[in-house]
Amino acid sequence: MQIVCLDLEGVLIPEIWIKFAELTGIDALRATTRDIPDYDVLMRQRLRILDEHKLGIGDIQQVIARMGPLDGAADFVEWVRSRYQLVILSDTFYEFARPLMRQLGWPTLFCHQLDVTDTGRISNYRLRMRDHKRAAVEAFRGLNFHTVAAGDSYNDTSMLGAAHAGILYRPPQNVIDEFPQFPVTRSYAELQTAIEQGFQG
Ligand SMILES: [Mg+2]
Repeated sequence: MQIVCLDLEGVLIPEIWIKFAELTGIDALRATTRDIPDYDVLMRQRLRILDEHKLGIGDIQQVIARMGPLDGAADFVEWVRSRYQLVILSDTFYEFARPLMRQLGWPTLFCHQLDVTDTGRISNYRLRMRDHKRAAVEAFRGLNFHTVAAGDSYNDTSMLGAAHAGILYRPPQNVIDEFPQFPVTRSYAELQTAIEQGFQG
């Protein structure tokens, strides 16, 4: 009765907006919550930029499909799924993640949703709920699952804290400094070992 909860971007796939900006050459899409802390303002700016460049969901998905998962991610996902239950908890949107989830063999994904018009224009975004990663881990614990969670950044730390064991994967230095209670891993081999130890503890 063991569940592994994994963050998606920065753990299994690239940061979607940053990679998308790179592949399309649209620098304005590089902005993240570090530049614009209000997530709603940031998302509305992103959707406006996509509109200005006449990029519909079909164009966007074609670009995202070219990103591919991170090297070794598909094998790592298979390793996890052959031993434990895997649930990916992400703050991305199903419509963006889809081309990459195909390349990972369609693991279970809990994230958010976009509103897309008949012509493929993204008209709005919908967050399923706030802090859903933590809420999901708490719910799994309530269902009597032993839960190990891993992620790379700030928006993962509440789920890492809620899990029986939380692991950081290739985090930035400021997250390491602020959350010294979580072990830091830098390769899938290290992450596998930390997951095994998390279930032993
Ligand atoms: Mg991440």
